[in-house]
Amino acid sequence: MKPSTAPAPITDPTLTFWGAAGGVTGSMHLLEAGNHKVLLDCGLHQGRREDARQRNAHFPFHPHQIDAVIISHAHIDHCGNLPTLVRQGFDGPIYCTPPTRDLLRVMLADSAKIQEEDAAHLNIARNYAEPWVQPLYTATDVEKVFGRIVQVPYNRDTDVTKSARFRFIEAGHVLGSAMVFLTAAGSDRDRTLTFSGDMGRRGLPILKPTGAIPPADVLVCESTYGNRVHRSFPETVEKLYSAIRDTIDREGKVLIPAFSLGRTQLIIHVLQLGLRERKIPEIPIYVDSPLAAEVAEVYRSHPNSLSPEIAQALREGHGLLGGDGVTYVRDFEESTLLATQRGPSVIIASSGMCDAGRIQQHLKQLVDDPRCTIVLVSYQAQGTVGRKLLEPKPTVRFQGRDWNKWIDVLHLDGFSGHADKNDFLAYLSPLAGNVGKVRLIHGEHEQADALAETLRGLGFEDVSVPNPGDRVTIG
Ligand SMILES: [Zn+2]
Repeated sequence: MKPSTAPAPITDPTLTFWGAAGGVTGSMHLLEAGNHKVLLDCGLHQGRREDARQRNAHFPFHPHQIDAVIISHAHIDHCGNLPTLVRQGFDGPIYCTPPTRDLLRVMLADSAKIQEEDAAHLNIARNYAEPWVQPLYTATDVEKVFGRIVQVPYNRDTDVTKSARFRFIEAGHVLGSAMVFLTAAGSDRDRTLTFSGDMGRRGLPILKPTGAIPPADVLVCESTYGNRVHRSFPETVEKLYSAIRDTIDREGKVLIPAFSLGRTQLIIHVLQLGLRERKIPEIPIYVDSPLAAEVAEVYRSHPNSLSPEIAQALREGHGLLGGDGVTYVRDFEESTLLATQRGPSVIIASSGMCDAGRIQQHLKQLVDDPRCTIVLVSYQAQGTVGRKLLEPKPTVRFQGRDWNKWIDVLHLDGFSGHADKNDFLAYLSPLAGNVGKVRLIHGEHEQADALAETLRGLGFEDVSVPNPGDRVTIG
């Protein structure tokens, strides 16, 4: 911790929303309490390349003035800009749960590789008169991040500055995910802040359930699906099994684009259950992702952070997230052969919106095969290949050309790892009257505004949706 240069004036702490405000990417919020500055999340902004590069490379504060960072979970939009922060002079502690620490190692290493490849690609394409493109950060910067990490278990009060402390509470969103409950000295009494991070759904397997949200002077809550109700999980699972059976009957292959942390583990779990309960025939299941293989290792090494049923299965030696008919493919050569192998199979690969990654290779080979099915298990953002697949057109454009779209396309939104409107109602209703202000972040305006209206109807008095740069006083 940096020493204060002057006695701290006793004013109420404030929180400034710098990312994931009116959108869903680049989560980053700055708490100022006394003379101290604490960053909640340091996410990578993902969007159009040049805009994203600018935003990620330029912080709206001096990184060396930040005293500490608290990370809610290991999704890249919540932690992926930590290496830039450290590269630009941040030298304080980075707090996270033990599973998040292990996930950060694989997620940030992968992100650095993407940054380095992206810069190399731009440099090949660049005009010689243009300046050399540097990667946003490299593997060396990621190593420096690990020198700063302090693991904090769930439900343990930890000092973050001389006058502020926090604790992590289970968020049930991905392994290690946490809400942050923070207490800081105010003008006349201690002030409290709850930061939800991303919140999980009720009734999903693998993780522990989302904990109770602590009442606070200010609640900063995500709102990704604040106005949507997901299809029920059991119904979604049945639809997936049925699509797989139909595809096998046609001797086709099933492609499942999925992000490597969170969605992939859920899909593998569901497929293994289907095999065990004989709801799908025994066909090869390939997880074509070195990153997902590493993430699975981290899940397996933290049984106490998983649901009791999954922890028990691990103790009994079941091949959770691997084995039991599931094969991880790390080798690139092997990956290129999967789509051309004879007979039906299921291939899970990233990215979840088909915009990058190994899924594109498989899609190129199978998109014009009417026996095959692609099952989209994530939200498909505007402009992505996944969204184009959903459009009622005979062709789909990617990698610079139009492809005949004869593959069956199925969209299942019920695998989402984010709370929906009904989950929010269940989590937040008990807090009406116990929270001073609510600020809804991490949602497109349509979703956040609708949830704000719902909360006002429940009796929350001061609810709003901040824009980037807006500030709330905690008091
Ligand atoms: Zn997340």
